[in-house]
Amino acid sequence: MKRKPEKGLETRAVHGPHIGASGAMSTPIVHSATFSFESLDDMVVEQEQTSAGAFYQRQGHPTIHAVEERLAELDDAEAALLFPSGMAAISTTFLALLRSGDHVVCVDPCYGGTQALLQWGKERFGWDHTFVDSRKPAAFAAAFRPNTRLFHLESPINPTLACFDIAAAARLGHERGAVVSIDNTIASPIGQAVHALGCDLALYSATKSLGGHSDLLAGVVTGSRAHVTPIYETRKVFGPIAEPTMAWMLERSLKTLPLRVRAQNANALELATRLSGHGDVAQVFYPGIPKHPSHAIAAQQMREGFGPLLSFEVRGGAEAALRVVNALRVIRHGASLGGVESLASLAAYTSHKMIGLEGRQRCGIPEGLVRVSAGVEDVNDLWADLEQALAKAVAVGA
Ligand SMILES: *Cc1c(COP(=O)(O)O)cnc(C)c1O
Repeated sequence: MKRKPEKGLETRAVHGPHIGASGAMSTPIVHSATFSFESLDDMVVEQEQTSAGAFYQRQGHPTIHAVEERLAELDDAEAALLFPSGMAAISTTFLALLRSGDHVVCVDPCYGGTQALLQWGKERFGWDHTFVDSRKPAAFAAAFRPNTRLFHLESPINPTLACFDIAAAARLGHERGAVVSIDNTIASPIGQAVHALGCDLALYSATKSLGGHSDLLAGVVTGSRAHVTPIYETRKVFGPIAEPTMAWMLERSLKTLPLRVRAQNANALELATRLSGHGDVAQVFYPGIPKHPSHAIAAQQMREGFGPLLSFEVRGGAEAALRVVNALRVIRHGASLGGVESLASLAAYTSHKMIGLEGRQRCGIPEGLVRVSAGVEDVNDLWADLEQALAKAVAVGA
């Protein structure tokens, strides 16, 4: 089922599976929306090639396919599909898997868009779902029902970076007859090999670390051929396929993915460590910090560090956190993560606005929480920026 990786991560990222196939170092961008054939027989052969085919762009396409092959190889999976956004990848996967009356168990708090999708499916398609607290894996089993079709995971969880034992969760899902999917956007395929941990489907917002330069919107699904084929069929029905130029941009980004992820993860760990010793910081949330409740399990199942995201609670609460973010100069204030540029955001105004104060309290998200996605800048500049912003925020508050 799983591909055995024959080459190291960097080699797979740089070359992809077709080293030297055409002689071109960079995959040619084929813009053609349709393709012509010498004979009906030739056309039928292409038509049946699923995503590999050069038949009609919505079904598959040479440029997109080259990137899909590289993504599959990077994630130790048989197959990958590329979508025009992370939400297109997640929603097409759910549409492929779920019928009316099916039940989903989903870790809480999962990505807000995924919560909205589950609510949409409940109202329009008769799906049902139960959220389970990601910090209490012992309670996961109780949420399953005979009609549970999908167990949807996310670890680490934004913005508290709580992690749970992914392999144990995947075993539980399989025992109960569910398909196990995981949104592995935060760690990326470099930071967490989720197929080796037993997940059936890995989902990515490629807008984040995979793209990595805040200049494209994309989504990816990887898994065994058997798991990915129904999603391919669903993509054909609804039509959310990536277009060739974006696919090429993503492929270009993938070549430096291991380098970027390692640099981001190293910067995140350094910032989290320094913030832990800062007097104006009440609490640091980063699984790389030995004090973090998920440190042991994260150290076991993550690799190449602990991800680019860290959060910290500023003394002085929501107002102080807002002043910190407004005072940052090198670290830019904006939503998103995983790019080469460091970004800061306030969970209460972005990713966790929708769930309200009560929802944030339920998930253990303090109001004074600042989330930082570490980029690849010089860590001393990032630290100096955080120090001056904290000093300003506290001086005003005093
Ligand atoms: C951004 C994000 C998504 C959604 O991806 P888009 O590319 O914005 O559609 C899904 N899951 C996680 C964890 C994300 O961070």
